[in-house]
Amino acid sequence: MITVAVIGGGAAGMMAALEAASRGAAVSVFERQNRVGRKLAVTGNGRCNLSNLHAAPDFYHGTDRAFAGPALRQYGPEDTLAYFRSLGLVTTVQEDGRVYPLSDTAGSVVDVLRFAMEAAGVRVYDSCEISRVEKTNDGFRVTWQEGSLKSDRVIIACGGMAGERFGGTKLGYRLLEGLGHHCTPLRWSLVQLRCDNPGCRSLKGIRADAGVAVLCGGKVLAASAGEVQFTDYGLSGPAIFEVSRAALESPETVISLDLLRAVNEEELTSMLLRRARNTPQLALGDVFLGTVQNRIGRVLVAAAGLKSSASIGELNEKTAGRLARLAKQFEFPVTGDLGAPNAQVTVGGIKTSEFHPETLESRICPGLYACGEVLDVDGDCGGFNLQWAWSSGRLAGKSAAEV
Ligand SMILES: Cc1cc2nc3c(=O)[nH]c(=O)nc-3n(C[C@H](O)[C@H](O)[C@H](O)COP(=O)(O)OP(=O)(O)OC[C@H]3O[C@@H](n4cnc5c(N)ncnc54)[C@H](O)[C@@H]3O)c2cc1C
Repeated sequence: MITVAVIGGGAAGMMAALEAASRGAAVSVFERQNRVGRKLAVTGNGRCNLSNLHAAPDFYHGTDRAFAGPALRQYGPEDTLAYFRSLGLVTTVQEDGRVYPLSDTAGSVVDVLRFAMEAAGVRVYDSCEISRVEKTNDGFRVTWQEGSLKSDRVIIACGGMAGERFGGTKLGYRLLEGLGHHCTPLRWSLVQLRCDNPGCRSLKGIRADAGVAVLCGGKVLAASAGEVQFTDYGLSGPAIFEVSRAALESPETVISLDLLRAVNEEELTSMLLRRARNTPQLALGDVFLGTVQNRIGRVLVAAAGLKSSASIGELNEKTAGRLARLAKQFEFPVTGDLGAPNAQVTVGGIKTSEFHPETLESRICPGLYACGEVLDVDGDCGGFNLQWAWSSGRLAGKSAAEV
């Protein structure tokens, strides 16, 4: 019987363990935290956006975008849903393709995997951090503080460095480097952005619907739309997460917010002038009344170099045009991100050119496999990262169990 040691009891590791065990391997899972699936249990704000029906290589990034293809084709989203249903998890699909457990609880995804591992006889070592993996003459030796274990095959499923509070670590990169692999430069994606605009602090706590564009040297690098949250350090919210990867690609990017998507700049200029004409008793700070939230309106007035306390009657074609442009293109130069504790995904990882995409076996060290976020593959927001963890986990588990 082939023995397989899976290092990391996260999404990819649990899936790899189940697949290998279903093919007759004797599987051990090593998890450094006190229980498996800790990060999985907090995904999707506790709801777990576990897949996306549109998952295909186009939604993934990394040095070689096509690398994820074979795993996603073999074990795609439909297959993942069928697999989870076979484990007793019922899912629901949103219009945009995002998949959630019907229970709306990430814990139920962890539970079905945990119980399935138990039923399949997978041996789980909790609170067991693997410090070394060595290649031996007849396989591998996996070492932790209190002991070591021999194994025919090893799967590294240690995840990336994002989400530090829930187990994000660089240990997986180090273990693979120890076996001859190489890591690309690392940074974050799906993360809150630090921005240089005094407006952020004044708007702290406000959530707004906005169009979001990432600009660099006059070019649009990425765009999204939806909820944006203003915070004391900068910008957060789903629409910001979606473009954060592009916003951090270069040091000179700017986030441009369209705070009134439903109205174009010309129309808005006319609306502001009409407001000034029809309600001359108002202060200039109230000129956006009925269009954007009051606090946002006042911040736009200040950003245009105008006084909120001035009479609205002072508004003319030129100043109304300036205000309308600001509301449609309110710019926030990006200065950084909130990094390890808060980011959801790592950009970069162990070089995929060093692995066979059809099996996820190392080209450098036969018998060694890797899956999930530890590899240089990251997906867009919307369930794509967990889908990669499931697809790559199953492929690694299947390959490692092959006689
Ligand atoms: C807050 C948050 C919310 C997210 N929400 C979503 C979402 O809704 N949808 C989505 O698609 N993606 C989401 N993600 C991303 C997704 O969770 C990850 O991409 C995915 O969990 C990666 O799976 P993995 O198995 O590779 O790594 P992980 O799930 O991080 O698992 C790796 C495991 O390995 C363990 N480990 C590491 N080193 C060792 C070692 N040396 N010895 C033993 N154990 C070790 C870690 O403790 C960890 O449990 C979210 C991430 C975060 C942080």
